[in-house]
Amino acid sequence: MPSSVSPKPRCIICRKNNKNGTLCPGWEIILNTVIEQLKALEAQLAGSGDEKKDEASFFFREGRIPILVSAPHAVDHFRNGKRKWADLYTGGIALYLHEVTGCHVICSTCADTSDPNYDPYEQNPYQQALAEYVEAHGIRFVIDLHGASAEREYALEIGTAPDKTADGEIVGEPDPSLHEYRFVPGLIEGIFEPLFAKADAPYRDVVKNRIFDAGSQNTVTKSITGRTGAAGVQLEINRAYRDPE
Ligand SMILES: [Zn+2]
Repeated sequence: MPSSVSPKPRCIICRKNNKNGTLCPGWEIILNTVIEQLKALEAQLAGSGDEKKDEASFFFREGRIPILVSAPHAVDHFRNGKRKWADLYTGGIALYLHEVTGCHVICSTCADTSDPNYDPYEQNPYQQALAEYVEAHGIRFVIDLHGASAEREYALEIGTAPDKTADGEIVGEPDPSLHEYRFVPGLIEGIFEPLFAKADAPYRDVVKNRIFDAGSQNTVTKSITGRTGAAGVQLEINRAYRDPE
């Protein structure tokens, strides 16, 4: 075949030839519907800069399956008194997953003076309420969603809360947060890497414990999987894969 013939465009989801480009018309409608739903759910959360101290700073949505998705940085938060910006769309994604899968959700809803993914357990109402909820509802797995910046050189990072030495060497148990669910990082990789491979974004890898390992501070993942019967992971989603703007 002459090398000047360029391949016909294929739909990135169903892989059929599609003269209109990289998404079949049907998939385009579905994708746009999902994006509209995500935007509407994200808009339900208090906007950045809103400090409504009289309101509860997080809420639960009860689900039907023994999996809980957590979004502690869905809105702006404060670490050691310094404002940190929200991990945009992590709250919207958690609420969307609740609607389509029936998972339980805990989500931050207004910027108060705390950081649920950092503060010591004794001063951390989010983690205290979550630990109690996990036990009361028989949750088996917790997925704690976060947002990595667009410059991070991966699509998704899995954190399993390993113990590390000062120079970053993992000591002891490599994946303490997984408990008996050892297969989960491989499952996440197997599901997402083929999808990311087709994405129009600079970084496409799924990595584990590279930068945000969930082990170096009092993270939701480390604290809840250490205190309850539930296993879990922290997921850092590159901004290219969570912000539809
Ligand atoms: Zn975060």
